[in-house]
Amino acid sequence: MQKIIQLKCSKNIGSVEVKKSSIHNKGLFARDDMQKGAFIIEYSGDKISKEEGSRRESESLNQNGTTYIFELDDICDIDGSSEINIAKYANHSCKPNCKISIRQQVVNGNKIKHIWLQSLSDIKKGEEITYNYGFSSEEKLWKCNCSSSGCVGFMVARDEWKKLKSRLKRSSI
Ligand SMILES: [Zn+2]
Repeated sequence: MQKIIQLKCSKNIGSVEVKKSSIHNKGLFARDDMQKGAFIIEYSGDKISKEEGSRRESESLNQNGTTYIFELDDICDIDGSSEINIAKYANHSCKPNCKISIRQQVVNGNKIKHIWLQSLSDIKKGEEITYNYGFSSEEKLWKCNCSSSGCVGFMVARDEWKKLKSRLKRSSI
């Protein structure tokens, strides 16, 4: 039996909304202007073991080709598939305006980590909230539709773009 801890959901969801996105399906959009460095929304969900995370990930990939399993650290994953977690709608971009920040909270002497989206630049009201999903260049490649200048065509971590380019050259995907 897996021990699942339900993280408290962020109350700070007034500043973003879910709307249709030109990148993919639904996206997350700013409802107000936001400053660089702002913590925008928490990516919340069940805290689960790595083993359970892999199981749920392959299950949801098989079912509908998407996954909301997020690597929290070397021990735990977060399953953000719940409807309460609207941060899951944030799309990937090769030129993102946000990044993932892990924030630590101490509760009764225990350190609890939370995943947040933090802005990399000032964001204007109505702008889509995006971040780099940080996928590996060596596993299954997912097409990117961010249409930003310099889009590499696949959702791959920024520091793996060189590796991706040589993989694409080798295999002409
Ligand atoms: Zn792209």
